[in-house]
Amino acid sequence: MGLADKLEEANKNNKPKNWCAYKYMYDNLTPENQKALDEAWVRGLSANVILSALRSEGIKSSNEAIRAHRKGVCKCLKK
Ligand SMILES: [Zn+2]
Repeated sequence: MGLADKLEEANKNNKPKNWCAYKYMYDNLTPENQKALDEAWVRGLSANVILSALRSEGIKSSNEAIRAHRKGVCKCLKK
């Protein structure tokens, strides 16, 4: 396989430019859960508390994803 093929293959696995793990998780929540999550941030709950609540609901997320999104350094906010 040549380099061009390798590059093509690597590119296929790339996520969209503005892919954000947090946004991806959020977009897959039910409207009720989105509301609950929004309210949790407004109420000032810590990322750790929110993360463990998400996990107990079987929703996958990570501290890194949350931190990046909250700090505005994730890709979804860089449009
Ligand atoms: Zn984001």
